[in-house]
Amino acid sequence: MVSRVIPVKTFDLVIFGGTGDLARRKILPGLFRRFCAGQMPPDAAVVGAARSDMDSASYRDFVGEAVREFGGEETKADGKLAAFLERLHYVPIDARGEAGWRELAALMRAGTVHAFYFSVAPSLFGDLAERLNQHGLTDEDSRIVVEKPFGRDLASAKELNRDLAAFFDESQIYRIDHYLGKETVQNLMAVRFGNMLFEPLWNSQYVDHIQITVAETVGVGGRGEYYDKSGAMRDMVQNHLMQLLCLIAMEPPSQFNPDAVRDEKLKVIRALDDVEPHHIVRGQYDAGDEGPSFREEVGDARSRTESYIAMKVGVSNWRWAGTPFYLRTGKRLKARCSEIVVVFKALNHSIFGEQEDHRNVLSIRLQPDEGMTLGVTIKEPGPGGMRLIDVPLDMSFAEALGENGDQTDAYERLIMDVIRGNQTLFMRGDEVEAAWAWTDPIIDGWDTRGDVPKIYDSGSEGPVDAVQLLARDTRVWRKVAS
Ligand code: NAD
Repeated sequence: MVSRVIPVKTFDLVIFGGTGDLARRKILPGLFRRFCAGQMPPDAAVVGAARSDMDSASYRDFVGEAVREFGGEETKADGKLAAFLERLHYVPIDARGEAGWRELAALMRAGTVHAFYFSVAPSLFGDLAERLNQHGLTDEDSRIVVEKPFGRDLASAKELNRDLAAFFDESQIYRIDHYLGKETVQNLMAVRFGNMLFEPLWNSQYVDHIQITVAETVGVGGRGEYYDKSGAMRDMVQNHLMQLLCLIAMEPPSQFNPDAVRDEKLKVIRALDDVEPHHIVRGQYDAGDEGPSFREEVGDARSRTESYIAMKVGVSNWRWAGTPFYLRTGKRLKARCSEIVVVFKALNHSIFGEQEDHRNVLSIRLQPDEGMTLGVTIKEPGPGGMRLIDVPLDMSFAEALGENGDQTDAYERLIMDVIRGNQTLFMRGDEVEAAWAWTDPIIDGWDTRGDVPKIYDSGSEGPVDAVQLLARDTRVWRKVAS
């Protein structure tokens, strides 16, 4: 199998917040791996820009350490890290100050793609956009990358969109949802629209229901202050789970191009039903062997923020009316697992007489061990009549694809897409606003009613109420397996 990687033009990438946690753990090690893969042109340059007062030499030391810690095996190869570090520069800049911009402008070369990664708090997005413009650092081919959270409600997301739109065209704005950079997430589209097998069955006539699970074993840890203001709804559902739902539910775009795909995703968000309060379960983890309780970790003994959410969501359109989507996500759960499960309906008529309920189930694992399993019904081997059993057709991508299955980290893929100018895997402004417009009334409802999340055991599968949510519909959650 020959891997065909589209080469990129040479670029100058500026990372605002280049000394932060995200740059250290994800962006810079990701760039290094692309450099090793030969995908970063030899003359491409990366400029760290942040508040810390350091020079390029000390920035290279800082990045060298980060890459050694998070960059993987290739850091051990002779000379590669040193060659990568030569591509780096640093400029001290305060997004709200005037110093440093001239130095930054001097590093930007004519004829290269200029990309500006805003890996800073969203409250600085507007300042950065304005100063980039004021100091003449941008042209119509420049692009900016902005991190989540993109707002905390519809009003703040609109404000951010306005701040950016004052200086950049939508075609220049890349809003990251790193879930969209995951190999398996893109595979959702390949599986649906690249096979004859699935699409004819992909509707409420054949699909009983769909489950989307993103379960984490970790708690909020050091992010307590941020998380207490956010909660699972804002931190996970409004973006990651919603994006997964869109890719599962959307109509086939006429072409695989950014706006065609994003138009179809937007239609799904607009077709989401309002969620009844009794179709939502919120939870908060208790203390356990795994660590302190949620309330202890966020430092608020009366916190009403949810670390877990399960909900039943309806999509009111021709394809999906009547097929519920069950979403759940939480922290400090039994296993780390992200999975989408499509449960097909039972046969209309069994020619084999009385048998227990057999259904085809397609599960798509995002992590760990990305892959797909299709449950099919066969005859149980041996004599004694026609008894049916369900067996999995199991495909681990790592096993099936060997070296070519090597999973590029989501950030690497997304950064390279920015340089290529491909927005397919980035959220459009109207998409983000539509997602908040759906989420806001749910959150407002909790605030108005003073809803308190249910306490669940650390290391469990979440609150029992979530089990009842499906039991009421005579359904069960798939076991969360690591
Ligand atoms: P961080 O606090 O570790 O780093 C912040 C960076 O911003 C530092 O480099 C700091 O020098 C710089 N900075 C702060 N104020 C500045 C100013 N006025 N002018 C210029 N630079 C300034 O934060 P982080 O964890 O790296 O997160 C950065 C952004 O990415 C945030 O919006 C965060 O929500 C988002 N994000 C982070 C992660 C993660 O895993 N860390 C994941 C998803 C999204």
